[in-house]
Amino acid sequence: GPHATQPQLELEDVYIAVKTTGRFHTTRLALLLETWISRTKAHTFIFTDTEDEDLSSQGYNLVVTSCHSDHSQQALSCKMSAEYDGFMASNKRWFCHVDDDNYVNPEALLSLLSAFPQEGDVYVGKPSLDKPITAHELLRGNATRKVQFWFATGGAGFCLSQRLAEKMSPWASGSRFEQTSATIRLPDDCTVGFIVEKRLGISMVHCPLFHSHLENLQLISQRSIPQQVTLSYGMFENKMNSIEVKGSFSKEEDPSRFKTVHCLLYPLTSWCP
Ligand code: UDP
Ligand code: MN
Repeated sequence: GPHATQPQLELEDVYIAVKTTGRFHTTRLALLLETWISRTKAHTFIFTDTEDEDLSSQGYNLVVTSCHSDHSQQALSCKMSAEYDGFMASNKRWFCHVDDDNYVNPEALLSLLSAFPQEGDVYVGKPSLDKPITAHELLRGNATRKVQFWFATGGAGFCLSQRLAEKMSPWASGSRFEQTSATIRLPDDCTVGFIVEKRLGISMVHCPLFHSHLENLQLISQRSIPQQVTLSYGMFENKMNSIEVKGSFSKEEDPSRFKTVHCLLYPLTSWCP
């Protein structure tokens, strides 16, 4: 509240968890390390399934989970659970999750989070669908119950305030996250929405500044890039879905457009022309 003496939020107060897997260390993660993670290294935690001496020796916070290295619901929930537990042990004020095909705009992220009451229960991200998802929660004795709730697409990134993350603990800490995920038989990002909206009765904050490659990224205007919190890239119907941005590198040199965006935001970077 207005009389609290909470210091102003700083970027270092934000725990950024990046989900990756061994085979993407060079193909995807390296691009993030060169670009936005170079600005957030100390408080960015890379959750993977494969040791990488090269990365740990360079001082990155690499968390090697014992999760399977596949795209199964179980393997992905295992990583999200590790991310949550890592945050809870960190004492940071905000938890943000992103995938390894996301660009995080650090200043935009800080502005977004600073605008919320810092002691509030906040779950913010981009809704995956234009209506709440329907799940069938497994009850005792094989009964099920229909539940509807909003969730933030993991592939666009989302954030949770520390206070809300603490309240989630009975359904999210340790082995409980994977149990909760199994209860609704839906992926990790849906499980977060289920815990927040159905177990705790707190509504997700819908924010258009997070982006996944499930949307048409060409629709993001170049002049709005400094305000966007996350970006993404990926293949869609055999074509590259990426943002449209003119600048330092050609589409051949920089198909994701992340280097071009980074040079737009941080023109003094050594490798920017
Ligand atoms: N991922 C993973 N293990 C896998 C495959 C993917 O941890 O076996 C991670 C990947 O690094 C990324 C996220 O899961 O952070 C989503 O994967 P991807 O972008 O390949 O697929 P999408 O779900 O976006 O189509
Ligand atoms: Mn993806």
